[in-house]
Amino acid sequence: MAYDVEKYRREYPILSREVYGKPLVYLDNTASTQTPVEVVRAVEDVYYRHKANVHRGVHALSQEATMLMEDSRERVRAFVNAGDIAEIIFTRGTTEAINLVASSYGQLLEPGDEVILSVMEHHANIVPWQLLRDRKGIVIKVVPMLADGSLDMDAYKALLSPRTRVVSITHVSNVLGTVNPVADIVRMAHEHGAVALIDGAQAIAHKDVDVRALDADFYVFSSHKMYGPTGIGVLYGKRELLEKMPPYQGGGEMISHVTFEHTTYAELPFKFEAGTPDYVGIAAFHKAIDYLTGIGTAPIAAHEEELLEYTTREMMKIPGMRIFGSAPGKCAIISFLIGDAHHYDTGMLLDKLGIAVRTGHHCAQPLMHALGVEGVVRASFALYNTKEECDMFLSALRRVAAMLG
Ligand code: PMP
Repeated sequence: MAYDVEKYRREYPILSREVYGKPLVYLDNTASTQTPVEVVRAVEDVYYRHKANVHRGVHALSQEATMLMEDSRERVRAFVNAGDIAEIIFTRGTTEAINLVASSYGQLLEPGDEVILSVMEHHANIVPWQLLRDRKGIVIKVVPMLADGSLDMDAYKALLSPRTRVVSITHVSNVLGTVNPVADIVRMAHEHGAVALIDGAQAIAHKDVDVRALDADFYVFSSHKMYGPTGIGVLYGKRELLEKMPPYQGGGEMISHVTFEHTTYAELPFKFEAGTPDYVGIAAFHKAIDYLTGIGTAPIAAHEEELLEYTTREMMKIPGMRIFGSAPGKCAIISFLIGDAHHYDTGMLLDKLGIAVRTGHHCAQPLMHALGVEGVVRASFALYNTKEECDMFLSALRRVAAMLG
């Protein structure tokens, strides 16, 4: 079936709005993708027809809401090919999922145990481990990168030691677009008796993810970056690990029996889902996954790659253009600076021309430091972006480059 981008665009009313009297060109997809009508309708449908708190009620609405939530869990399980729905924990996002692992699995670590991260991690995959370091006296080691933005796998190998307990590395860099060799990363971690967490926030809408083929111990991602509602994320974890881990938060839903003297906890996955979840968003997340798989991550990735190649090639013709990240097979994310122009000025001028890009450190300050910059401008593509939009972006960029000298 041909890739019909115009058809897909019609499912996103926001894409036909204007900003400052100019047609919107939305290239901030790495931060959040837009959401198609059918997913928004799914939210509406729960609010209008099924809203009632989940898991506790005997009445019809509560049972319907519970069924929608649990159907969604099964959909997520199948989507990432997990073996068991007990291994799918709903969280508020990638950030909460990593905090859950660092906090809970972290309790099983001893002072001097080592956690390996990489220089290209998002703060969400750095700070939770630093909090654990403060509590537990663990040691954090950092894998550097090569000049093109690939992970330095030799350095990774050298960092692995008998004290390595956790390796926590991103699947795709949110700045460089680098796709890390996660299956190798996991395998090498296992050879040293460590568990591996893969931050899939930037991979999940662009790659087919099979957690069992990867053999990842934990795999985390966010719905808002995959055309779904905000405020929902997923922690996939291997059952035997989740069973061993203490609860992350306490409250309703996560208990089996409570007295003031002693509490026993609910079975997986509920042990890690204290309090009322965003069951409306979770129900609609199901639709987002159906939507994404309906088009297919492979055709989407091929489309985005075309836009990436074309735009990168044309950008390189602009005098002073500096693009950060050129690893082979990178995802459709272009981080750049024009000469010495401040990233913020470039972003602001582009905005006035209708182009939505992100500027700043992208929650990756250690990476900015490694690149020797304070921040960069980032354009990133999604399934609904077009070549015409790339041309609009490029023509705006040429104007801005001329203005900023
Ligand atoms: N990891 C990576 C690689 C990301 O790109 C992001 C979002 N920018 C996160 C983690 C955090 O995701 P969230 O804000 O949805 O928790």
